[in-house]
Amino acid sequence: MSPNRRYFLKQTGYATLAAPSGAFSDQKLFAQTSNKGTQPAPENSAPMNDRRIGYCIVGLGRISMGEFMPGVRLSKQSRIVALVSGHRPKAERMATDYGVSPKAIYDYDNYDTIRHNPEIDAVYIALPNGMHAEYTIRAAHAGKHVLCEKPMANSIKECEQMIAACKQANRKLMIAYRCQYEPTNLKAIELLRNGYIGEIIALESSNGFNIHPGEWRLNKKLAGGGPLMDTGIYSLQATRYLTGEEPKEVQAYSSVIDHDGRFNEVEETVVWSMRFPSGVLANCATTYGSSFIGSKVRVIGSKGELKLDPAFGYQELHLSGQAQGKSPLDIAFDNPAPRQFTTEADYFSGCILENKEPKTNGDEGLRDERIMTAIYQSCGSGKPIRLSA
Ligand code: NAD
Repeated sequence: MSPNRRYFLKQTGYATLAAPSGAFSDQKLFAQTSNKGTQPAPENSAPMNDRRIGYCIVGLGRISMGEFMPGVRLSKQSRIVALVSGHRPKAERMATDYGVSPKAIYDYDNYDTIRHNPEIDAVYIALPNGMHAEYTIRAAHAGKHVLCEKPMANSIKECEQMIAACKQANRKLMIAYRCQYEPTNLKAIELLRNGYIGEIIALESSNGFNIHPGEWRLNKKLAGGGPLMDTGIYSLQATRYLTGEEPKEVQAYSSVIDHDGRFNEVEETVVWSMRFPSGVLANCATTYGSSFIGSKVRVIGSKGELKLDPAFGYQELHLSGQAQGKSPLDIAFDNPAPRQFTTEADYFSGCILENKEPKTNGDEGLRDERIMTAIYQSCGSGKPIRLSA
């Protein structure tokens, strides 16, 4: 067997999110030593049930129309039953395309009347970040479960209000951290927990893109911040789920190099370091100023290294690794877009149907918000910020 061979692992529903059991057995990947992380690799099984959860899509933009709705179309557990948009002709086109009744098209003013539509079990919030809290809280008051896009909100206070509103209404709240349901990232977690690279020593991660002027992402009120809130959050998430630890200290710097008007309200670039309780160190970078940063993670271990490159895209993610005494790894799952969104929607539908708490619940979104707040504090003060456990 070629040590450099690439594994193409076919995803056919939930059961194949982990590699087929025999796929790596000849490579002795799973050493007995466990890593420093205490959190077990998360389960990704979504319960199957005959009933489909009805979603109301809130905000018809790129992520909802380009990925989430096509993802739900492939689902056996979820369906689209209502739309919320400020643009009626666009909503009518999408309603025709997805078989949604024109009576189930709402706007931002009459949004609260979704409470009277029993077909709607849950809302999917795909609005600018600064609107997540309001539309989550209004959905909870209307008695609907909430799947909210990342970042959860613009502030710790908003996150706490969202959690409280959903708790009070006895509705579930999940943050759409799709990478925590994605097979390549899950495989990396599994390999790390099983000690493939020995003890984790350090991680590096980067994510970003070159932003066009005029985007709401450059408006502080709508975005909450710059690339940290939008793309850096993927690197932050990865350091947490790959180590299974929570950082105890951050030190960060931000800068604006392109004085072309795009970055009058938010930062262009943030780099930050984190210390974890076990001693693991992480270095991350995120920018809106370059298309060449890529979405990458490198995990350095005492006996090897793992790389995810690309790590966070919608498809064609790639995991590679090498470790002492083990064959090199080269793994790419056959999981074309928009399947990550099918998996994510169906996972949340399963949680609703089986009354299970989502693994990326509001508390998980709040944890990131606290760390990002500390990162911004460190950018402002130039000092490291300690995080409470
Ligand atoms: P977008 O600009 O394409 O869509 C935003 C939608 O909100 C549009 O339909 C727009 O009309 C509507 N809207 C309502 N009020 C608005 C206002 N005041 N200003 C601007 N738009 C307004 O944005 P997007 O890229 O789809 O991002 C939406 C959310 O999804 C963000 O929170 C973003 O972080 C998140 N997102 C997640 C992923 C992922 O992979 N999970 C990817 C991209 C975006």
